[in-house]
Amino acid sequence: MSMHCYETIYDVIVVGAGHAGCEAALAAARMGCSTLLLTINLDAVALMSCNPAIGGLAKGHLVKEIDALGGEMARNIDATGIQFRILNTRKGPAVRASRAQADKQLYRLRMKRILEQQDNLYLKQGEVTGLYLEGEELRGVDTRSGIRFLGKTVILTTGTFMRGLIHIGLTNYPGGRAGDLPSVGLSDQLGHLGFQVGRLKTGTPARLDGRTIDFSRLEPQYGDDPPAPFSFSTERITMPQVPCHIAYTNPRSHEIIRSGLDRSPLYAGVIEGIGPRYCPSIEDKVVRFPDKERHQTFIEPEGLETVEVYPSGMSTSLPIDIQIPFYRSIEGLERVEIMRPAYAIEYDYVDPIQLRASLETKLIRNLYHAGQINGTSGYEEAAGQGLMAGINAALRVKGREPLVLGRSEAYIGVMIDDLVTLGTKEPYRMFTSRAEYRLLLREDNADMRLREKGHDVGLVRDELFGHFLRKREMVAAEYERICSGRLAMNDREQEFLALHGLGDIQKGTSLEHLLRRPEITYKELAEFDDVSRETPPEVREQVEIQVKYRGYIERQLDQVERARKLEGTPLPEGMDYFSVNGLTTEVREKLAKNRPDTLGQASRIPGVTPAAISVLSIALKAKG
Ligand code: FAD
Repeated sequence: MSMHCYETIYDVIVVGAGHAGCEAALAAARMGCSTLLLTINLDAVALMSCNPAIGGLAKGHLVKEIDALGGEMARNIDATGIQFRILNTRKGPAVRASRAQADKQLYRLRMKRILEQQDNLYLKQGEVTGLYLEGEELRGVDTRSGIRFLGKTVILTTGTFMRGLIHIGLTNYPGGRAGDLPSVGLSDQLGHLGFQVGRLKTGTPARLDGRTIDFSRLEPQYGDDPPAPFSFSTERITMPQVPCHIAYTNPRSHEIIRSGLDRSPLYAGVIEGIGPRYCPSIEDKVVRFPDKERHQTFIEPEGLETVEVYPSGMSTSLPIDIQIPFYRSIEGLERVEIMRPAYAIEYDYVDPIQLRASLETKLIRNLYHAGQINGTSGYEEAAGQGLMAGINAALRVKGREPLVLGRSEAYIGVMIDDLVTLGTKEPYRMFTSRAEYRLLLREDNADMRLREKGHDVGLVRDELFGHFLRKREMVAAEYERICSGRLAMNDREQEFLALHGLGDIQKGTSLEHLLRRPEITYKELAEFDDVSRETPPEVREQVEIQVKYRGYIERQLDQVERARKLEGTPLPEGMDYFSVNGLTTEVREKLAKNRPDTLGQASRIPGVTPAAISVLSIALKAKG
């Protein structure tokens, strides 16, 4: 087909305006690059394909990190969230996580408005059917409507759309998501170019008509009051807040599911793609846990202006004549009407093992992949990668070194390192257990870890950075004061110690020592210490965590220091592992296949032993 070549040469072209694409495009444009964002349907920008919620365990951490670096997701959910909760408040600070229900349409509309108002950012509708290469040089992209767009760098964020195939029972049809066209052609070209294209699947529940649910028989669950924002720059949440409701399946529901298994595309062998282990469909749960009498579901509102609700954890690809009696078997849902059926979707992804830590592909210079195309699942995982790909494409255009976050700096760093070092054969989602330095990577200190990096690349504005610097100074000063302040044993202090049964505390004890006691928090300190009372809550929180967890934090910092040497030792790009003496054939093959960038990455490849790492480091020294 002959192409009409558009006159502009963009610095960055982003393909796909999902959660990855929006962050990528905003980052590049905010860093001053002329950026084109192309997407199949402009009315589906930042659409939530599955659950209308942001955050949750480990995912909340990602959102805070995106915010600290200067991304948009946290501010978008703060402006459109209709129920906010902090999970695990009774557990340690490392695993506390924020989660919010979104008004799905408002979320999408606000993100589109932010994109439209962004300088340097051009939003256009178009389906990319292929990369445009001159020889081996990437020059731009071609679209279905016959327009060729030229760009210096390209970021692919195609989500579940490449060769998307929707399944409802044994019926299937092409689609990128229910109601959206698939992306056809692009993944074939990627395969021809040498990328390892694989097939994954995921599923979503039916959307139900809230008017046909008897909510009086369900247990309401309210959000936190007051709701705590995600973003370090949001002062407070102003959206109206609404409850979710809890319901349960029962043995009859499971019987109905079992009666339809022979027509499940999964069990009948129609679906080839591998599904998310951690987000199983209801038929998977019923088959895998036959003794479980009930499964819980949260009935989540999809927005303030719609009756549609989302039954979480109830995804299925069973036929509609099973879906209807199944949902109706749940107490309170006896008369429920389905507005959109549940379905599963299969799609093409590209194994992220073929990426560098900057998310640039190893095969084609200036091409980046981010989001579900890399085999991940989840909005937050996608957004985190999109942001990094956007930053790195912009840095490339500016001739600067890429920004790579370490495993000790951010969950985003852990995720990208996992993906590019190990690749993935099944949908990858974030968990706190994937991070070895969990106590350092908390939600509450995401700004301490990453604000400066966001400012350095030009994403965090000076004004916000100024706020952060003041906070950081206050935390340092308060920590210093707590460590040096000593009890003089005046009347107030003596009264306080007696009241809290702290008779063993002596004159001259530091406030830090007192705060380390499990029964004492800043709230108690404030009873006799006037400065504590004046200290802003976000400063108190940092100092309190630093004091209470000091031992553990120091131990993790030691481990980070020891690992730093390996992380900082690069492996030459064309290194011939077969010529290194002392490595087993298995290790040689793994290294040759994975092509790690550093000794640290090499050490995380399963089968690459500590012995092999020392052999490698000696070989590197010998090479000098
Ligand atoms: P998407 O949000 O899919 O966005 C991709 C964007 O790219 C779209 O706007 C699309 O139009 C555009 N696009 C694609 N190809 C082209 C092209 N060639 N040219 C131009 N534009 C293009 N996640 C979970 O964590 N848990 C779940 O249970 C879960 N279930 C899901 C169920 C279903 C049915 C679906 C569809 C998704 C589910 N997800 C789930 C995944 C979640 O939606 C994604 O992880 C997340 O949206 C990925 O973001 P993304 O930006 O990578 O891609």
